[in-house]
Amino acid sequence: MSAFIIKHNINLHPFNTFGIHAISHFFTIIQSPHEIQLLLQNPEWKNFPKLILGAGSNILFTEDYKGLIIKNEIKGIECLEENENEVLLKVGAGENWHALVLHCIRKGYAGIENLSLIPGTVGAAPIQNIGAYGTELKDVFYELEAINLSDGIIKTFNQAECQFAYRHSIFKIPTNCYMILNVTLRLLKKPIFNTEYSDLQAALKMMNLPELSIKAISDAVIAIRQKKLPDPNVIGNAGSFFKNPLISKEDFKDLQSKFLNVPYFHDEVSDQIKIPAAWLIEQCGWKGKRIGNKGVYEKQALVIVNYGEATGAEIWQLAQQIQQSVQEKFGISLIPEVNVF
Ligand code: FAD
Ligand code: NAP
Repeated sequence: MSAFIIKHNINLHPFNTFGIHAISHFFTIIQSPHEIQLLLQNPEWKNFPKLILGAGSNILFTEDYKGLIIKNEIKGIECLEENENEVLLKVGAGENWHALVLHCIRKGYAGIENLSLIPGTVGAAPIQNIGAYGTELKDVFYELEAINLSDGIIKTFNQAECQFAYRHSIFKIPTNCYMILNVTLRLLKKPIFNTEYSDLQAALKMMNLPELSIKAISDAVIAIRQKKLPDPNVIGNAGSFFKNPLISKEDFKDLQSKFLNVPYFHDEVSDQIKIPAAWLIEQCGWKGKRIGNKGVYEKQALVIVNYGEATGAEIWQLAQQIQQSVQEKFGISLIPEVNVF
């Protein structure tokens, strides 16, 4: 007998941080790799369209989902190896990301403190190579295990195979057929602090600490985020709706000749110029704008918010209007960071 239970016509409202009322025709919760293997062996579900869901904090449902949503709740934290310098932690994909960060801080394991208070599950963290305040998941990534939803084979992916890039990986494509089961991180026992972001520096300065620590960095990041970002439990949102565009140095020169005060950062990995999308959106007059039940957050123009009863299609329509105005004013295409279904 299979351990998983398939439910019918489930409202996804509690399962996405935008707070969208979409219906999933079929829905199940998976708590172990064995359960997903059983599900994939079942002839009824084997070839059925499937979508993996973590905490729903980077997803927008624009319509009902006609297939089977598989909510990942695989738990567990296991120390695989430890020496005086580092530790390898294998973490179940359904663990909460921020709870893991706090666990590591308590244990004195450094490397993910800058990624404090990012909502979501550990299994979703590699999908877009989550990043904040100059740290990305790839900086601590060791390997992950994922099951191929079409043949049930479990494969281990190393860093190179994941093809991590800026808010991207091999898994962040609409045709992704893998469900991530666990992620192994390599964390340091002797921290290397990363405090280059100016907001973080300012917050740490305000704290006036005798010495820097991973706990202090985490506390500072939490304080900034609580001030600047809407709490999804209060106002529906999925964080930054768009990625920061990367443009060539030639295109940047052209842009700067027209907009002298355009903020920018050199992206060392791609050797391109990163323009803060929030600035582009603000320049188009969107910051703080509310249209009915949806709008652009007043403190951060990259965040689209649902004030209550907006539909996913309405949120998507607003996102497209923003894309269009940024395209018209700056000639730059904004690419959604949120996964739109
Ligand atoms: P979901 O939204 O459930 O899923 C996201 C995508 O990953 C979907 O396509 C889903 O199908 C797929 N997926 C999920 N789990 C798996 C799995 N186990 N296997 C295969 N596919 C899977 N992101 C950042 O990078 N940096 C930030 O600083 C940041 N800040 C945020 C702040 C707020 C307030 C919010 C609401 C979001 C923020 N995000 C940020 C976005 C989001 O938190 C992350 O992308 C997070 O990793 C999503 O996790 P999730 O479990 O909610 O994924
Ligand atoms: P911020 O600190 O006001 O900075 C604005 C933008 O400039 C950011 O997007 C950041 O790019 C870039 N930037 C700032 N300082 C930089 C530096 N020293 N080097 C390179 N790039 C720099 O941004 P914020 O909105 O308050 O967010 C703070 C951090 O949390 C950012 O890293 C942001 O990505 C992350 N965040 C992500 C989400 C999400 O949903 N993805 C939501 C909220 C916050 P990067 O975005 O590339 O870092």
